[in-house]
Amino acid sequence: MKTTTQVAVIGGGVVGCSVLYHLTKLGWSDVMLLERSELTSGSTWHAAGGFHTLNGDTNMAALQGYTIRLYKELEEITGMSCGLHHVGGVTLADNQDRFDMMLAERAKHRFMGLETEIVGPDEIRKIAPITNTDGIIGALYDPLDGHLDPSGTTHAYAKAARMGGATIETHCMVRETLQRADGTWDVVTDKGTIHAEHVVNAGGLWAREVGAMAGVYFPLHPMEHQYLVTDAIPQIEAIIDAGGEHPHVMDPAGESYLRQEGRGLCIGFYEQPCKPWAVDGTPWEFGHELLPDNYDKITDSIEFAYERFPVLAEAGVKSVIHGPFTFAPDGNPLVGPVPGMRNYWSACGVMAGFSQGGGVGLTLAQWMIEGEPERDVFAMDVARFGDWINPGYTRPKVVENYQKRFSVAYPNEELPAARPNRTTPMYDIFTDLGAVWGQQYGLEVPNYFAKDGEPGYETPSFRRSDAFDATGREVRAVRTGVGINEVHNFGKYRITGPGARDWLNRIMAGRIPKPGRLSLTPMLSQKGKLIGDFTVSCLGETEFQLTASYGSQAFHMRWLLQHQVDGVSIENISDRLNGFQIAGPNATQVLAACTRDDLSDFCFLDVRRMTVGMADCIVQRVSYTGDLGYEIYCDPMAQRQLWWTLWQAGQSHDMVPFGMRAMMSLRLDKFFGSWMSEFSPDYTAAETGLDRFISYSKNADFIGRAAAELEQAEGPARKLVAFEVDADDADVNAYEPIWMEDEVVGFCTSGGYSHHARKSVALGFLPADRAADGSQVQIEILGQMRNARVISQPLFDPDGARMRG
Ligand SMILES: Cc1cc2nc3c(=O)[nH]c(=O)nc-3n(C[C@H](O)[C@H](O)[C@H](O)COP(=O)(O)OP(=O)(O)OC[C@H]3O[C@@H](n4cnc5c(N)ncnc54)[C@H](O)[C@@H]3O)c2cc1C
Repeated sequence: MKTTTQVAVIGGGVVGCSVLYHLTKLGWSDVMLLERSELTSGSTWHAAGGFHTLNGDTNMAALQGYTIRLYKELEEITGMSCGLHHVGGVTLADNQDRFDMMLAERAKHRFMGLETEIVGPDEIRKIAPITNTDGIIGALYDPLDGHLDPSGTTHAYAKAARMGGATIETHCMVRETLQRADGTWDVVTDKGTIHAEHVVNAGGLWAREVGAMAGVYFPLHPMEHQYLVTDAIPQIEAIIDAGGEHPHVMDPAGESYLRQEGRGLCIGFYEQPCKPWAVDGTPWEFGHELLPDNYDKITDSIEFAYERFPVLAEAGVKSVIHGPFTFAPDGNPLVGPVPGMRNYWSACGVMAGFSQGGGVGLTLAQWMIEGEPERDVFAMDVARFGDWINPGYTRPKVVENYQKRFSVAYPNEELPAARPNRTTPMYDIFTDLGAVWGQQYGLEVPNYFAKDGEPGYETPSFRRSDAFDATGREVRAVRTGVGINEVHNFGKYRITGPGARDWLNRIMAGRIPKPGRLSLTPMLSQKGKLIGDFTVSCLGETEFQLTASYGSQAFHMRWLLQHQVDGVSIENISDRLNGFQIAGPNATQVLAACTRDDLSDFCFLDVRRMTVGMADCIVQRVSYTGDLGYEIYCDPMAQRQLWWTLWQAGQSHDMVPFGMRAMMSLRLDKFFGSWMSEFSPDYTAAETGLDRFISYSKNADFIGRAAAELEQAEGPARKLVAFEVDADDADVNAYEPIWMEDEVVGFCTSGGYSHHARKSVALGFLPADRAADGSQVQIEILGQMRNARVISQPLFDPDGARMRG
């Protein structure tokens, strides 16, 4: 056995083999895979082998499309069969909300180049004749749906990797992973120790245990899952005899997926009475085995299936496959460099290995070899969870995710499991004021404040929700008086030390402010992609505070720490610094009533230490509402005192608390982009207009400079613009296609209702040469074409006079 390698991939399931293949495909051949038993010995061998592109996250859907298209390539390279059946599939909609979701998905697919179609009951019966369409409104047809042979496919990946120079060691159990001082790894196996530069955890069912060998907790959990294979069914035999094959049918109402298997059918369920498996750890001795059949869990599901597919009622059961596989709390894979670790990579938590395995392998290989993936993969980045995550949180979220696998996913939905989890000292005060809570990165965040008689729960919807009135009330209160909300959901970092300024000049593309001032700056990747949109506040020549997205803390810390140098200290203080934002025309009067500091020379983009009431605060003269406003930061121990000070002073100035729904409407008035909607690694600074914050004149070779300069010289091909939309009861959410002259020319990034201007607003990308002010377009919202036009003049305070005060 080899004793040194550039990469040791632990785990020979479909995911580990895909990673190995993609490493060779992208040019690394000194790579090896270690498998404790035979290839496919985890979840892989008993998978049903189905694949599909449908995924709520657009980039995940694109990677699933890549995976499916890859199989033909694998077959060609290796000469092996993956047992492909591209039979197509329908996903049924039995109610308007589910149909709305499909209309939204279909619309997204237009600019993704996916040829899905909405079909009605008559067509469904033609495509999938065993379906009882009573109560079915329509379906989404995807010609790419299909199934394959899980074992054959995994072995094809393995053969392709070997052909690229990779080595595979089976019956080679990894017992320990020990890191050397230089960041490389000793991987201790039953067959000896391998010195590896990089380790990839593709341990599947055992990924938790493999992670623990390196002291890392991976937030995933195995669930039991069951599907049945029937004896021959005459109606299916008739289809086969006529030269056809029955397609896949997903019936979300029945939480089932169905396909042809041999001369019968195979049907699996995501049942509500589901069961987590191996709660305290996956036993090492669990081998090539199945769990005992459990019909009790799926009795209701089977009865429902008999109604939807009456042929099943007559069919005998040939076999039952009941096995475990793993999920992360949100059901997406855990991929990428593990935060806080050197040369340790994750490729686990993959619950749909045959839809996603190729995309996971490609992404990880790009990250390892090229330094960054080609697209925004935050939805599956292992850094999307913080260091607060633990098994107590993961398990209920995984159960919830399993149960909701086939549920309608609404854009405004707040999932209930594992909540409330992380709360600030304001939780009970805001609850008493009517807060309707949402959740962000484990943290409770008020979405809006309901008054007596208003619903204390926002009904999930694709259309304007029942939070509409409360949101409008809060927006108007901010614009006419003063609003207050917490700054708990900002990511906050302290950068200190003699090298801090120089280092920030290298990490951030924008200007680093002088003491007492703050600036806005993009953070770019080497390839010029947006990886952060930060506010940098200079508290002193060697002391800076950064603020950015709360949900990207682990993502940002991973990058900041990767680039740390001597003389610079970096601290994540997101939960150690809290406070409030006050915004609106009366904000200055409120602050003046709470401090003895002279505010007359406190200008827009100033930052200052101040005593507010009894709290020592850092106060910034800026607000994401686009209004006159202040961010007031303090120690969480002083936060309640600060609240009472501001709240009491606010009473004579029409102060109201406001939530995130109002915040998102307010920012639209000014066309301010939002992190992970307008600003993400999918886009560049020039495309999004953030290049206005890049300092090309500064004497620093900031990361991404060459790429940004090139783009500046050439000009971006597409541009982010704002639209006024003739919407009805549904606004833009994200990824709606934008049409011009019967052609899809762009897509939306976000949108909503401007309660201030009483207009529906969207932000989105258009080709640069078609993005002029006044350009007429159509935006497809829930299957309806809505007229819209490009607007460049903000809907509130267009010249910034009020914001600057
Ligand atoms: C009943 C059922 C039906 C399914 N149907 C589908 C489907 O239709 N479509 C679909 O896409 N997905 C399906 N899945 C899910 C699919 O099986 C998984 O997504 C996939 O198998 C995950 O692959 P993996 O490589 O991540 O993990 P695994 O297959 O679990 O592989 C991990 C490998 O790592 C090895 N390993 C672990 N620890 C060590 C160690 N210390 N040293 C050496 N080797 C180690 C294990 O032996 C194992 O071979 C189904 C799952 C089940 C249970």
